[in-house]
Amino acid sequence: TSFGFQQVSEKTKATKVQEVFSSVAANYDLMNDVMSLGLHRLWKDYFVTKLAPPTGSKIIDVAGGTGDIASRIVQYSDRRVGGAESSDEELQVTVVDINKEMLTEGEKRFKNNENIKWVHGDALSLPFPSNHFDAYTIAFGIRNVSNFEQALSEAYRVIKEGGRYLCMEFSQVDNIALKSFYDAYSFQLIPVFGELIAQDRPAYQYLVESIREFPDQESFSNMIEGVGFVNVNYESLLGGVVAIHSGFKP
Ligand code: SAM
Repeated sequence: TSFGFQQVSEKTKATKVQEVFSSVAANYDLMNDVMSLGLHRLWKDYFVTKLAPPTGSKIIDVAGGTGDIASRIVQYSDRRVGGAESSDEELQVTVVDINKEMLTEGEKRFKNNENIKWVHGDALSLPFPSNHFDAYTIAFGIRNVSNFEQALSEAYRVIKEGGRYLCMEFSQVDNIALKSFYDAYSFQLIPVFGELIAQDRPAYQYLVESIREFPDQESFSNMIEGVGFVNVNYESLLGGVVAIHSGFKP
């Protein structure tokens, strides 16, 4: 049945995603720099500026990996208050990831940072009560999840009323010239970088394919609205190579 098929393919995707990130964890940060020519740093900085996390907020960063977003959120908040928050109004970021190796790398990187907590968990079934966080962030994570709607429903559940959903993901490029350059770059060069730096060509092949399968900007906006978020909008960066989607829980 199609239902049976879907279950099998979901399991295959989840298993594959585990293998890919266990394999790349140690080289993940370097690979990001190489693959995006350093641009991921600018995109992540911009993403956090857009979030503009208020002092004392409780944020969940899902599929948070080695902590790139969480650490930027804490830095943003430190800069804003001059690093002198009293403990009861300190911002807290909870990084959730399904891959223990990625979390371990993150903990090593930011081990003295008391504002970041590391939790092993699944975006499809978050180990937190409902209406718990002021904001939910997910960067380059949702395309790896086997059921986008369920990940969105879980996001909606754990966000407080009035809280924000902010997602950054590779998206669809509509300019034809840019698209042909981008396709050549990603299909041909990225797997080669994967081979050279991480000795794992198939893992990077998977990453490129998962980008092509992710819904375009409008379709993903509709999915976000579909679970109940309001004031949904998106912004495309670099002609749609990346998009940031935003929504609020009413
Ligand atoms: N957000 C980080 C960043 O921007 O550098 C990491 C992004 S990395 C491309 C994707 C992450 O999603 C991996 O760490 C992977 O383990 C995680 N992931 C995949 N499926 C997940 C799931 N169902 N629940 C939680 N994390 C998941």
